Amino acid sequence: MKLHDKTFVPYLSEAEILGAVKKIALEVAEEYKNETPIFVGVLNGAFMFVSDFLKAYPHPCEVSFVKLNSYQGLTSTGIVETLLDLPENIDGRTVIILEDIIDTGRTLKELVHLFANTNVKEFKIATLFFKSDVYNGEYAIDYVGLTIPDRFIVGYGLDYNELGRNLSAVYQLNQNQMINLVLFGKPGAGKGTQAEFLKKKYHLKHISTGDVFRYNMQNDTELGKLAKSYIDKGDLVPDEVTIKMLQDEVSKNPDASGFIFDGFPRTVAQAEALDYFLETKDMKIHATIGLDANDDVLIGRLLERGKISGRTDDQDEAKIRNRFEEYNQKTAPLKAYYESQGKYHSVNGIGAIEEITMRLAKVIETI
Ligand code: 5GP
Repeated sequence: MKLHDKTFVPYLSEAEILGAVKKIALEVAEEYKNETPIFVGVLNGAFMFVSDFLKAYPHPCEVSFVKLNSYQGLTSTGIVETLLDLPENIDGRTVIILEDIIDTGRTLKELVHLFANTNVKEFKIATLFFKSDVYNGEYAIDYVGLTIPDRFIVGYGLDYNELGRNLSAVYQLNQNQMINLVLFGKPGAGKGTQAEFLKKKYHLKHISTGDVFRYNMQNDTELGKLAKSYIDKGDLVPDEVTIKMLQDEVSKNPDASGFIFDGFPRTVAQAEALDYFLETKDMKIHATIGLDANDDVLIGRLLERGKISGRTDDQDEAKIRNRFEEYNQKTAPLKAYYESQGKYHSVNGIGAIEEITMRLAKVIETI
């Protein structure tokens, strides 16, 4: 089944979904048979769930909806922006949130904040789908319909760019269409430049380890702070921390057509960790491409770049040669690692930018 540019494969039938909805409804009913709870559906995704849930709920109840401006989150005043207000007269009542899906838990955090200033008697959370592998675990989830792996799904209220909400079954993104690449190359080989072109041509997400580090440290994320604690001591950031940051990037883009990993892996241990992590998501690296160029050409390019950018490490030939040496030592075994999986390709990295892009495209189109 195709929605926009992506294909989806059947994942859960309508009967399986309705079974899970009924299970939650009866669990809640058993607990609240002696009062009249207010069910609060979270729009847009939860509309189908709410409808079937209410039909399966055997006792008196009320229903209302909220709609969060989820991508703005908390405002500077700490007030959650809502597009639809809280139901009235909820003081002293039992409120049970009905969510279609809980993934990282960011939306849930907003919901909890939203109800934090009310005087409800009880506040419970029910979700039809729960991605337990990626959930941050901040709040207990009281009722779960189905625990599902961290894959992008559509249907039964859930959309891909607004399409797919009307499907009565649930479909999963077809991961086999993905293209995941690793780009190798010495400093100056043009990885960044080429990644920009490939990203546009194949709709890929470019994950540059350098950028990911800078993002996490500048935004003081937990992982950023952790990485900084090693860097401040003059130590190398352990692979687990870097891998965790990459995992976050991959998880943030569940509907990506694929990824270009740039600057990672740098060692065989990291390549193994990356393979392991991708496997848990039913993904894999399809090709690793080395951009080859001889040292003298690269030194010429870097010295030129150093003059323009002012980067001191690009202005000193001895330092550049040291970086090449380090690359040779660490990356050569990686090349062997990917060659043994039949995934290593090298591309001549000398020539006009477009010519090199064409050479890369030729490799990618054989995948
Ligand atoms: P969270 O804030 O828990 O990370 O994510 C919750 C929101 O992300 C959901 O309300 C939903 O809008 C969106 N979401 C998370 N995972 C999926 C998915 O697999 N498919 C779709 N269509 N939306 C998802």
